[in-house]
Parts: sequence; structure tokens; C-alpha cells
Amino acid sequence: MPKPAVSEVWDRANESNFFKLLSAETLVVVLIGPGGVGKGTVARRLLELDSRLWLSRSWTTREPRPTESGNEYFFVTREVFDDAISRDFFYEWADFHGNLYGTPRPHPPHGRDVVLEIEVVGARQVRERDAHAVIFLLTAPTMELLEKRLRGRGDHEEHIARRLESTRHEVENGRELADFEVVNDDVERASREILSILEGLRQSRRIPS
Ligand code: 5GP
Repeated sequence: MPKPAVSEVWDRANESNFFKLLSAETLVVVLIGPGGVGKGTVARRLLELDSRLWLSRSWTTREPRPTESGNEYFFVTREVFDDAISRDFFYEWADFHGNLYGTPRPHPPHGRDVVLEIEVVGARQVRERDAHAVIFLLTAPTMELLEKRLRGRGDHEEHIARRLESTRHEVENGRELADFEVVNDDVERASREILSILEGLRQSRRIPS
């Protein structure tokens, strides 16, 4: 799939009101954790289980994987991404293993809460922007399981080795930042644990459900 040019992207961004600001009641739910831990699967399950949640679609300069359909991200060139940074377009962005990843300023439908599935450098920026953002660190029950999941995604061997190296960094930094740590031993169980925490937070903040 060809990546769009700068002008094409901004025409679309302005049309869809991308620069609108988040309302104060919107809860920002951040999932962090090492590659292969299952953030994406948990995020999808959370959305199925709770219709109040809305998943942000990130931008990235990395190439789509053979196993991806093209909808996982908005895949852009570095030129387009740099241009977006200079327009202060991103809510947060980070360089992860040489590729850039960013969350456009979220514009969820009215009354929905935002879910971000990002790495730890970006999560720190979210925390600076929104002190009420809820950050969940997902961890794997064992390192072997993590490695198996990474291999299953069809990444190159060299890529997998680098990702495994950065696992410790993601977990250590994630623990400092996160409000809650959830072990993804089972997608269903982990998703329900997250939802029950969110429910408690909504009630304590008196956010109507
Ligand atoms: P992957 O290349 O495996 O899809 O993603 C690599 C890492 O980038 C993962 O930890 C993923 O959660 C993170 N990521 C995905 N989208 C974003 C984003 O918009 N911002 C940041 N900071 N990280 C992201």
C-alpha cells in the first residue's frame, strides 16, 4: 500500500476535526508493556467488553508486517511524520527502535473514553499532559511466552533479539510510571481485571456510566 503525501494527509486531518481538544471528563486509559505481551489483543477485548471505550489509531513510519492488513496503524513516511510533529499534531510520540510512533490528539465520540496502546516514553508524555490518565503495565507470566509470541508475529530474527533486549527497559520504566500492573496470563482474565479497575475509577470520579 503506498504511503500518502503530506498535502493529502493534512486535507484529511482538517476535514475530520483532528485538532479538537479532549473534554475534561474523558478518561485516558494507557496500556504499556513489552512487545509481544499482548497489548493489542487486550485492547481489542476491552473494546468488545466495554462500549464506552474508544481505541486511538496511531501513526507510524515503520513498514507494515507481512501479517498485518494495513489498518493496524496509519502508515506514513518520515517526511509526513516530521511535518506532523512540527504542526504539534501529536498528543505524544516516540522513536522506538528507529521507527517513529505517535498518537494524534484524540477525538473520541462524545462520552467515550480513550484507549492508547503505546510504549513507555510516549506514556510519560501522556502523564505530563493529563495527570488523571490511568496507566496499566501489562506483563507476561514468563519470558519464554513473550519470546514465543514475538516469533509468532513474523518479525525478523534480528528484530526479535532487539525487542527482547528492550523488554527489561520497558518493564522497569513501566513499573515506575504505571498506576497498575496486570499480568496477561489470559486475555479474558486480564481484560476483566482492567475493566473492574476502570469501573472503580469511574465511580470514584463520578463519571456517569
Ligand atoms: P509495533 O511495531 O510492535 O507495532 O509497536 C512497537 C511499539 O510501539 C509497541 O510497544 C507499541 O505499543 C508502541 N506504539 C504503538 N503506537 C504507538 C504510539 O502511537 N505512540 C507510542 N509512543 N508508542 C506506540
